[in-house]
Amino acid sequence: MSNSTIHAGTSGGSSAGIYDDEHELFRDSFRSFVEAEMSPHVEQWERDGIMDRGVYVEAGKHGFLGMAVPEQYGGGGTGDFRFNAVLNEEVARAGIGGGGLGMMLHNDITTPYFIEYCTDEQRDRWLPGIASGELITAIAMTEPGTGSDLQSIATTAVRDGDEYVVNGAKTFITNGINSDLVITVCKTGDPKQGASSMSLLVVERGMNGFERGRNLDKIGQHSADTAELFFDDVRVPATNLLGEEGRAFEYLSFNLAQERLAIGLYGVAAARAALDWTVEYVKERTAFGKPIASFQNTKFELADIATEIDVTQPFIDRCVMQLNAGELSAADGAKAKLWGSELQKRCIDRCLQLFGGYGYMAEYQIARAYVDARIGTIYGGTSEIMKTIISKDLLS
Ligand SMILES: Cc1cc2nc3c(=O)[nH]c(=O)nc-3n(C[C@H](O)[C@H](O)[C@H](O)COP(=O)(O)OP(=O)(O)OC[C@H]3O[C@@H](n4cnc5c(N)ncnc54)[C@H](O)[C@@H]3O)c2cc1C
Repeated sequence: MSNSTIHAGTSGGSSAGIYDDEHELFRDSFRSFVEAEMSPHVEQWERDGIMDRGVYVEAGKHGFLGMAVPEQYGGGGTGDFRFNAVLNEEVARAGIGGGGLGMMLHNDITTPYFIEYCTDEQRDRWLPGIASGELITAIAMTEPGTGSDLQSIATTAVRDGDEYVVNGAKTFITNGINSDLVITVCKTGDPKQGASSMSLLVVERGMNGFERGRNLDKIGQHSADTAELFFDDVRVPATNLLGEEGRAFEYLSFNLAQERLAIGLYGVAAARAALDWTVEYVKERTAFGKPIASFQNTKFELADIATEIDVTQPFIDRCVMQLNAGELSAADGAKAKLWGSELQKRCIDRCLQLFGGYGYMAEYQIARAYVDARIGTIYGGTSEIMKTIISKDLLS
């Protein structure tokens, strides 16, 4: 691979690098977009608890949505996940985690389901809007009564002629307020059965009986809307079934590897961004007549953090290339998430300590990064569930 580069950031990275010139051009272009269209609005989004929908349309116009959507539907036509990785790294670098989350979910997590499992008719209906940003997507698995134990969901979809009648409730759904298309995990078979009775139905904004609940008040990621969804006899056309009945668990198991890699990758990028801010800060801030950077503890902390990040990066890079080759296993996706999100939490905590009291002030990027990081080890499957997946692979 020629002209490949190391990862963005002053701390650099020790991996040989996975990016080519085209990725770096894409990075430059997205960095300008973030500076012009996202960063100036983040404070407002944080106060509002939601990101302006208009940003999706702007991102779509510039080619930052639906990179994997075929060109005939207005997408980028590339399955190269390195473009997604670049977006994640730049959002982390800008310290706008909550603001970027909805877009990342749309690109990295939900769009693959539409690309892989849509019929031609569904592709025509949905893919152009997904790529342009006019249709914002969400995926609704978690329910008030169950999260980790997905097979225990209680939302049902009963077939009635050419429709399914959906009843139930979901919670903690990212893009829950902004979304137009919600991939909803339902039981279409016997609710007492597990995996074999689960299907994916696309529930659309405006369908009768489909209501949004509260935009939930979180400790971090305030710019991301996270909501409850209620389904009360919602009549969903059978033509909104995604893929085949009874195969949702298989689809989710396959796609969750990509979702988990994205979360892990973001975690490492967020830790790297925090390290960069910290390096700058400790050079400026003085105590006892000397820069904080001159204390041995500071040097050792920075060295430890940089080592953690740089030693992890090649594994994440390898997973990205495995994903591109269609070879990322569920266990490796789980390892990327487990390690990347735990590292994020650990490293940002240590960076914040070096900021002293200023690190606790909400106006500092490091403070927001700290609270934003806390969710990484929970959503997309908790660290404990990641360990379950990894150990199952070891012992099978
Ligand atoms: C900000 C945010 C955004 C989210 N976005 C989405 C979204 O877009 N779509 C969506 O569907 N969901 C979303 N979620 C939900 C998230 O995926 C779940 O919260 C997560 O999977 C954990 O489920 P739970 O909250 O029900 O916890 P529980 O399953 O109740 O787990 C509680 C604790 O028990 C542990 N535990 C559970 N089972 C085991 C086990 N077998 N062995 C050991 N320990 C175990 C867990 O690890 C955890 O520590 C989001 C959540 C948040 C907070």
